[in-house]
Amino acid sequence: MIDYAFYPENELEFPLKDDIKILSNPNEQTFIANSQKLNPIIYAPEINFYMKNSKDTIPSKIENIYILYKIRDTIYENAKYNEYQKNVNNRLLIIGTKEKIEKLPELEEFDIYYSLPEWIENIKGTIGNLNFLINKEDTEIELEVDQAIWFKAPQKAYLQAGIVDPEKIGIEKAVEIIKRRIGTYEYKNYITYDKNICQFHKRVLKETCTNCVDVCPTNAITKNDEFELVFSHTD
Ligand code: SF4
Repeated sequence: MIDYAFYPENELEFPLKDDIKILSNPNEQTFIANSQKLNPIIYAPEINFYMKNSKDTIPSKIENIYILYKIRDTIYENAKYNEYQKNVNNRLLIIGTKEKIEKLPELEEFDIYYSLPEWIENIKGTIGNLNFLINKEDTEIELEVDQAIWFKAPQKAYLQAGIVDPEKIGIEKAVEIIKRRIGTYEYKNYITYDKNICQFHKRVLKETCTNCVDVCPTNAITKNDEFELVFSHTD
């Protein structure tokens, strides 16, 4: 695995430290990277923000970019976490036009379902239990699958773990990822939550705060009717 990887959106105006490997294709597993195109374990968008906006001198930029990687690394190493496992079976939904789907190789190890993009009304769940609401010619179907390949996936698809877009990462990589994930999917959860001080938990008389639910970009925090927060471990 490559520990520190950098994906150059544009030509670099200065070098990076030797510990940071510049990668233009996502064929190797990466630990910390500035771009989701490299499929890293830790995505660090602040590196791009810093590069774009910093008025520091070039030597300072080189040093500070390295520090940004180190900060992510230190947080990961020292974070409290619990380890979880989830079973991912072989149910696969492929979403795309006929021409796109025909470009995929044989996927005989999967139970495959197909849908046109315009049939998808809603998605819930996460890898291992992705729930799609499909509306085909005014007939609604609820379909649960483990993963999905979605050509030209819209933004809402990225709110759930378990969906890959071959238009973004290439067919070969997309197929490799979904095959690799079958079996037991292991992950760590870094959430530390104290319901005793949460201003939503069991505040049944008046809902006082749901700020984390409102701002979470991946639907990983939701609230239920019991006035409790529900955390997804994988989104
Ligand atoms: S609802 Fe979320 S943001 Fe508000 S107090 Fe509870 S944990 Fe914090």
